[in-house]
Amino acid sequence: MIFQQQLRIPGPTPLPERVVRAMNQPMIDHRGPEFGALLRDVVAGAKRIFETSNDLLVLTSSGSGGLESALANLISPGDKVVAAGCGMFGDRLAGIAEAFGADLIRLISEWGQPTDPDDLAKVLADNPGAKVVLLTHNETSTCVGNDIAVLARVVKDAGRLSVVDAVSSVSSVRIAVDENQIDVCVSASQKGWMAPPGLAFVTISPGAWELNKAAKAPRFYFDWQRHLAQLEVSSTPWTPAIGVAYALQEGIRMLEEEGLANVYQRHADIAHATQAALQAIGFSLFAAEGYRSNTVTGALPMAGLDVGAFRKILRENYGVVIGNGQGKMQGKMFRVGHLGAVTAGDLIQVLWSVERTLEELDVAPADGRGINAANRVLFATGGDSR
Ligand SMILES: *Cc1c(COP(=O)(O)O)cnc(C)c1O
Repeated sequence: MIFQQQLRIPGPTPLPERVVRAMNQPMIDHRGPEFGALLRDVVAGAKRIFETSNDLLVLTSSGSGGLESALANLISPGDKVVAAGCGMFGDRLAGIAEAFGADLIRLISEWGQPTDPDDLAKVLADNPGAKVVLLTHNETSTCVGNDIAVLARVVKDAGRLSVVDAVSSVSSVRIAVDENQIDVCVSASQKGWMAPPGLAFVTISPGAWELNKAAKAPRFYFDWQRHLAQLEVSSTPWTPAIGVAYALQEGIRMLEEEGLANVYQRHADIAHATQAALQAIGFSLFAAEGYRSNTVTGALPMAGLDVGAFRKILRENYGVVIGNGQGKMQGKMFRVGHLGAVTAGDLIQVLWSVERTLEELDVAPADGRGINAANRVLFATGGDSR
């Protein structure tokens, strides 16, 4: 009997019961005072989590819409843009830039590897005309966490503007937008924020607003100036995802009740425990050591294991839903999401199910070695990731 699914994909993420209740509300006038208060509260909370005093827009769209808004508002067709990518989401961001007419200079890392800061510095030195640089904080397809402080510093030292895809990191991994001088930073409600899909966040520095004045790419729905003008009167230009905003307000409340430092530590501890456990079971990790994501872990199967059959049994017999590999790694790797509402207990349930599934498939015995490896990490870190 499966009473509740363990949704362990890197977004959408599970909703805490408090969030589900918070969104169970009658509709309100999106031009009225209640929504105005809700929007102000969500924007203020999100700014604390991004650690920024820059403008922050809340757009009704998935994360990709937030990313699209950055290109639509910052460039003119024919502009040189540097796209530093290390996986599928990096490719997507470059694809958006291309769709808006950018003259792309690509810096592509091998899958599993991070973006190299020295390579980035060299590309910027070779392309003095490229004002905008596209970066990924957490590459969800390869499960790589880039050192965003270092990369953003390289961009600033070269006098350029950074656009950072931080969709699957912000609120789970510290990003500190102002401290790192990140010009445009994007996240989305269905990742670490413990809310359903539907809202994207975009932070915009004064330098980005300056560039926006001259940018001529076509835009309408995502026109930042229209959004800012409405935000100044606590509203949005178009009908917002009101239900998601209620959820997000509660998600932010829960993150702040836990304390952001504790939230980040919980994600780090659970990521380390996941990595240790999957390796102890016999999987090899996809991302390079030292650059493994705190929100999602990607692993390659041991000999004799079919990833499709593994995921199917996990889902059907144990209610544990994990992600497939993406792009060229589809069917060749799997990804375990551990962001947002995730505890050590959830991880143990996932690992118990993984071991049982491998035994069912006659690949390896369910002898608890994954669970034990996870416990060793969790107890060593104080075991406070309940
Ligand atoms: C989830 C995600 C996105 C956004 O995807 P949407 O489906 O449009 O919300 C972008 N970048 C990364 C790294 C992601 O993990």
